Amino acid sequence: MKQDYYEILGISKNASTAEIKKAYRKKAIEFHPDKNPGDAKAEEMFKKAAEAYEVLSNEDKRARYDRFGHQAFENGGFGGGGGMNMDDIFSQFGDIFGGAFGGGGGFSGFGGFGGGGGQRRVKGSNLRIRVALTLEEIANGVEKKIKVKRKIQDKDTTYKTCSTCNGTGQITRITNTILGRMQTASPCTTCGGSGQMIDHKSVNADAQGLVMNEETVSIKIPAGVVEGMQLKVAGKGNDAPGNGVPGDLLVAIEEKEHPFLQREGDNLHYDLYISLSEAVLGTSREIETVSGKVRIKIDEGVQSGKILRLRGKGIPNINGYGKGDLLVHVNVWTPKTLNREQRDFFERMANDEHFQPKPEKSDKSFFEKVKDMFT
Ligand SMILES: [Zn+2]
Repeated sequence: MKQDYYEILGISKNASTAEIKKAYRKKAIEFHPDKNPGDAKAEEMFKKAAEAYEVLSNEDKRARYDRFGHQAFENGGFGGGGGMNMDDIFSQFGDIFGGAFGGGGGFSGFGGFGGGGGQRRVKGSNLRIRVALTLEEIANGVEKKIKVKRKIQDKDTTYKTCSTCNGTGQITRITNTILGRMQTASPCTTCGGSGQMIDHKSVNADAQGLVMNEETVSIKIPAGVVEGMQLKVAGKGNDAPGNGVPGDLLVAIEEKEHPFLQREGDNLHYDLYISLSEAVLGTSREIETVSGKVRIKIDEGVQSGKILRLRGKGIPNINGYGKGDLLVHVNVWTPKTLNREQRDFFERMANDEHFQPKPEKSDKSFFEKVKDMFT
């Protein structure tokens, strides 16, 4: 059973944004790995608090969580669910609690190591951003140019070989056991495994010799993406110091609400309201779709609840399995007030044979129509 996010942060369900941030900062400092080295339980709490904050600090996600609980993020969505790794926590929320820890030299705080044995290449931390898209953008695919603040190597920073590990990036320890001498290797803590230390850096560079830089990154978003999906732009995260490789930019997709269309997988739904007269006499109407307007014909005698299927007017499947449909739901609007003359007319028609329901096969019940849609 997953622990409640409010409980993790120790706040009430109606906590304000400021209270949430304050509570998270407190927890992050309490369980910070620098304060609890090698304590797996503290690390677990550190991650849990970040996950809770990730969701509760976002108005949209918080609303979803309040309604559906942890289930809201069950489809492997961004945030919640899968939890966050240390890398992401530092790059995303580091500024909230980072001030409490003076980054004393070394390359601590940097993420994983690329490559296997031998010289390790330090990877810069990942950056995360959210991109909100309209249904039209999702249906057609879009290229977004987004300003990203990422740390890059400062050209005035120079490096020298790490004196602790002599540039190997590893500390080897030899111990005598009953089976003979055993050699164990672990990443060098002085240089973080890169084999290099800062020799000289300019005043505006940080402890790792990096400077903040704003850059416009072009992100190609394929058609058919889904809310919560995450795209990766390789190499557009923070740079790593020295000979390391840059981290990645992770782009979380959000879907903006459409004024008329509702998405259900690759299909779209549209509620069409027509008057009683239009239902009786037939009409034609312009429907908004994700690829422009389309005129559709409504036959005379149409029944309320009829579903018109516009094939291929939905969302392209993200995996290339064709396109969804646009399902137009016909709703006949029954007048709520009538004048004397109209009332007389309908009273006269009350027992008229043309006004008696005579459903045929083509006027399938709602449940049969739903069944049809999924087969
Ligand atoms: Zn070293």
